[in-house]
Amino acid sequence: MELKAEIIAVGTELLLGDILNTNARFLSQQLSLLGLDVYYQEVVGDNPDRMKEVICRAVDRSDVVVLSGGLGPTDDDLTKEMVAQYFELPLIFHEEIMEEMTQYLHGNVPPANKKQAYIPEGAKIIHNSYGTAPGILLERGGKIVILLPGPPRELEPLFLEQVKPYLRAKSDFVMKSKVIRLFGSGESAIAQKVKDLMESANPTLAPYAKDSEVTLRITAKAHTEEEADGCIAKMYEQVADRVGEYIYGFDDDEMKIVVCRMLKERGLTIATAESCTAGMLSSMIADIPGASAVLFESVVTYSNEAKEKYLGVRHETLEQFGAVSPQTAQEMAEGIRRASGADFGIGITGIAGPDGGTPEKPVGLVYLAVAYAGKTVVKELNLYGSRRKVRYASCLHALNEVRKILKSA
Ligand code: ATP
Ligand code: MG
Repeated sequence: MELKAEIIAVGTELLLGDILNTNARFLSQQLSLLGLDVYYQEVVGDNPDRMKEVICRAVDRSDVVVLSGGLGPTDDDLTKEMVAQYFELPLIFHEEIMEEMTQYLHGNVPPANKKQAYIPEGAKIIHNSYGTAPGILLERGGKIVILLPGPPRELEPLFLEQVKPYLRAKSDFVMKSKVIRLFGSGESAIAQKVKDLMESANPTLAPYAKDSEVTLRITAKAHTEEEADGCIAKMYEQVADRVGEYIYGFDDDEMKIVVCRMLKERGLTIATAESCTAGMLSSMIADIPGASAVLFESVVTYSNEAKEKYLGVRHETLEQFGAVSPQTAQEMAEGIRRASGADFGIGITGIAGPDGGTPEKPVGLVYLAVAYAGKTVVKELNLYGSRRKVRYASCLHALNEVRKILKSA
């Protein structure tokens, strides 16, 4: 059976925008992974009438209702009371909860907290070792209602440890997804190539563009993990057929991680000479633990003088072609490779903007050179967007060139 789920986050501070509703995101992700169909998310303030209204509608239209927040000791914490009223259940005192609270609070349970030891009759207690308010699990008239404390550091582990196994047993489905990471083509161009596949209902295929990259997410719903995996693999094959040349990684494997791993596996090193990116590329590489095995050295040569002094870029090259030119990029890459002794030498020079562009050399024009094994590849990039975006995309392109060389080597 397909279970319809709904999430209700309780708290006036959420409505006022004082805090971000991260519980809804967490719960939505988790419920979807369990194969439940999340159809609604709501936020309601600490107001009894409006809470009742929302609970009533949710229980009416959904099979599983998860409420977050409002389980605390104060008077405005009303979630449990409203749910009990809705189902016309008395609240029953549980000595064991009192004992747990005593233990958690080292013996001093404030009188107000006693309220938290009351649970609607017939409900299951979700014991909470991360705070004082226990969660509650109620099955009634074919509906499942779950109450969890608001603080994410309590809600998240309680969900993972106790609610998830319970719901997994109830759900006949599992949901799995695989993220395909692509670089070198825009979102609309990629989407165009897989347009018909995006019409598939199961698995689904959804594109997403972020930070100069494109991802395609395949999501499959099936009765078993194996079935879902099979479904994903079939879709992946079709995707790879169409846009395989742009695929560089999967799931959380960012470009910098992929490239560092490839370099490490082959015992190769890299050195960068950066002008407009001013160290951003080497900083990205240094983000990866163990970068010292691959990152040899890096120089920021912003001025023409520095390009000559540290990289041996010829004065005539700069005079004749300018700092932003394929010739300068090439000499930068070859210069840093020679000076450092690293396997790869990278040179990046360009116009990041927003000023400094000319009709011949507009903002976003970047030259990238990769020197490796006696050969230098030079690329002209025509990037767009903010200064940060141009610089960041330049670094991704540089890493991608290294990846392409390594792949074909
Ligand atoms: P407590 O016993 O701490 O009062 P509670 O179950 O009553 O727990 P709330 O009072 O609703 O929960 O919220 C307590 C805190 O938890 C909030 O101040 C906020 O920091 C966090 N919180 C509550 N709801 C959310 C939410 N939907 N997303 C993220 N954080 C939340
Ligand atoms: Mg509270």
